[in-house]
Amino acid sequence: QPLIQLNNITKVYVMGETEVHALRGISLSIQQGEMVAIMGPSGSGKSTLMNIIGCLDRPTSGEYLLEGVNVGELSDDELAIIRNEKIGFVFQQYMLLQRTTALRNVELPMLYGRGRPDRQERARRALEAVGMGDRLHHRPNELSGGQQQRVAIARALVNEPRIIMADEPTGALDTRTGAEIMGIFQRLNAEQGITVILVTHEHDVAQYAERIISVRDGVIADDQPVKQRAMVR
Ligand code: ADP
Ligand code: ADP
Repeated sequence: QPLIQLNNITKVYVMGETEVHALRGISLSIQQGEMVAIMGPSGSGKSTLMNIIGCLDRPTSGEYLLEGVNVGELSDDELAIIRNEKIGFVFQQYMLLQRTTALRNVELPMLYGRGRPDRQERARRALEAVGMGDRLHHRPNELSGGQQQRVAIARALVNEPRIIMADEPTGALDTRTGAEIMGIFQRLNAEQGITVILVTHEHDVAQYAERIISVRDGVIADDQPVKQRAMVR
């Protein structure tokens, strides 16, 4: 069974008299262990699609099965639990708390029911996994953009998600640093089998994925494997 299965998903935003048909019938499946890039022009529906896949929003119609579970039948609380357990989020602007350390930033989303030493140890291991083991007590403003994004990836990893969703994760970084970040995603994907779904408008960045889904006007315009995948050593 696919990890993610969308069947004829639509999303309509209603604003007063106006309706915006952001998604107009999206069907797709993503298998466990895939690394997928979603591309498309501004306003094509990428964020809406990411929000639905990430269980941050619900479709207007259609069916979403996540590991075979019909997400549409879950309560908001159940949806929040699934989101916390299964999905890690990475954003263009890192979204770190500025006033605290890398270690505390990574500890914050950790599920309760764990003692403090255990939480700290897991946060430390997540930071080591992204090459930030020597920056545990730095605050975001003492780190470069690439380093801040590494901390954000550690935060996304700390609950051991099956899926990482990244919205323009290299959008604020130079090309070389962006490639390093994509290399981290490739390594997590290859070594831990984490499914990676990213949105990017940069064609070069999408080449690090193994499959590119192109969205246009709320429908899938194209869905192709990457022929010559870019790999970060
Ligand atoms: P993209 O991420 O590709 O730029 P979006 O999913 O953000 O596309 O937007 C798709 C369409 O839905 C756009 O026309 C946008 O203006 C509209 N839209 C997105 N979010 C909202 C919202 N919360 N309320 C109303 N319209 C929205
Ligand atoms: P990266 O290639 O990871 O983006 P840089 O070459 O930009 O790293 O940064 C090199 C070093 O400079 C890093 O160790 C970082 O701690 C420090 N540094 C970078 N930017 C800043 C900043 N805005 N404020 C403080 N320190 C910074």
